[in-house]
Amino acid sequence: RGLSALPRRHTVSVSAVASERLEATSSLNGGSTWNPSAWRSKPVVQQPEYLDQVEVVKAVAEIARMPPLIFAGECRTLEQRLAKASTGDAFVLFGGDCAEAFSQFSANRIRDLYRLILQMSIVLAFGGGVPIVKLGRIAGQFAKPRSAPTETIDGVTLPAYRGDIINGPEFNEESRRCDPWRLVKAYNQSAATLNLLRGFSYGGYAGLSRVSQWNLEFMKNTNEGHAYMDIAKRVDEAIQFMIACGMDTNMPFMRETEFYTCHECLLLDYEAALTRLDSTTDLWYGCSAHFLWCGERTRQLDHAHVDFLRGVNNPIGVKVSDKMDPNDIVTLIAMLNPSNTPGRLSIIVRMGARKLREHLPALISAVQRSGQVVTWVCDPMHGNTETVSGYKTRRYDNVRSEIEAFFDVHEQLGTVPGGVHLEMTGDNVTECIGGGASVSEDDLNSRYHTHCDPRLNAEQSLEIAFYVAQRLRQ
Ligand code: PEP
Ligand code: MN
Repeated sequence: RGLSALPRRHTVSVSAVASERLEATSSLNGGSTWNPSAWRSKPVVQQPEYLDQVEVVKAVAEIARMPPLIFAGECRTLEQRLAKASTGDAFVLFGGDCAEAFSQFSANRIRDLYRLILQMSIVLAFGGGVPIVKLGRIAGQFAKPRSAPTETIDGVTLPAYRGDIINGPEFNEESRRCDPWRLVKAYNQSAATLNLLRGFSYGGYAGLSRVSQWNLEFMKNTNEGHAYMDIAKRVDEAIQFMIACGMDTNMPFMRETEFYTCHECLLLDYEAALTRLDSTTDLWYGCSAHFLWCGERTRQLDHAHVDFLRGVNNPIGVKVSDKMDPNDIVTLIAMLNPSNTPGRLSIIVRMGARKLREHLPALISAVQRSGQVVTWVCDPMHGNTETVSGYKTRRYDNVRSEIEAFFDVHEQLGTVPGGVHLEMTGDNVTECIGGGASVSEDDLNSRYHTHCDPRLNAEQSLEIAFYVAQRLRQ
């Protein structure tokens, strides 16, 4: 059955420009039926090289037998929330580790990230006056694309670390060997993580009556911690007032919150094994997370990742750098969202502050001209990575400047900034330089724990949330 025949709700008309582009690329789609394995006939990049294919087949078969991690109905609700963000009636916060690690798996770390995302969403909702869609880069964010397939240290060359779902970060032969049974371990860690996240979301922890209890211990005496408590106090007062007016304290938002998971759709063996047919709609869903995105390195129009993602009915995203061409973005959007369903597709821009001002306007204009509906999201992390004293780091000021540029460009064009996508942690790490807490270059070696890219710490993240809230208010 052709993809175009798949039913979709809430579609809006797309201009002739985009339809023409879609027709021109129908040969890329092969005009053919989609299934979760169809990508295997396309060129594919950034996949691990396993030595023992028999073990790969066994490990993947084991995952294919496992239950889905998320439900299709949740994806449909998320799509509606993201559609709101495309028109400015909601705002999306993506946040979490660059790469989750087996060795750093703990209930406290999950709680601290979750709590920080709740805090930030209170700051954003209070300042921006719109609902905040919360998406954790968690419960599946394991696989990493690499710019080089190998790494050389002191004359020794070994395969690059590709994330704990594939191999280990330690620089020795044994650890860097790709092990397919890590797929199963990653699935199990994701399931346990999601179990706790669902407990937090629906078991009382995330109720709005607890806003003042979410401040992290080490944040209590910081400027950001104080500013947060001021807002928490005002939220408490507003709730008391509404209760006095007769509001029912059993309202769902007083007891629970929606929280969604996302990760880069990179490792196609894993994603395909978790792709299931939804029994209520007869549509395919990627059941490893609610939201999947295509990375900057895997978004080639005629390659496997785009083919896989066009067929799953989850809300999806694509990372886009300054290398993206205005014509290509229209083609790509037409392939990934042929029915132009609002909320289906987020474009996650990651260019660096200066390049963004130069390149984003042409992309937005091209998309606007073709009548395509997307949710524009700013990833201010990946265009601002640098190496200082041997550490991969990012400067708080550059991260903030890219967000500033993103809001400025949308303001100039009269379009909608729909969200931010951050690499961040609830831990008190020293991986990014600057911010009010002033992590200096010399501090990098004190608590540098990331297995991949440097993350904003809790204080820096909250500071970003205050800045974004101020922009949303304007
Ligand atoms: C990431 O989000 O960790 C990542 C690798 O992003 P990008 O594809 O934008 O480089
Ligand atoms: Mn990263």
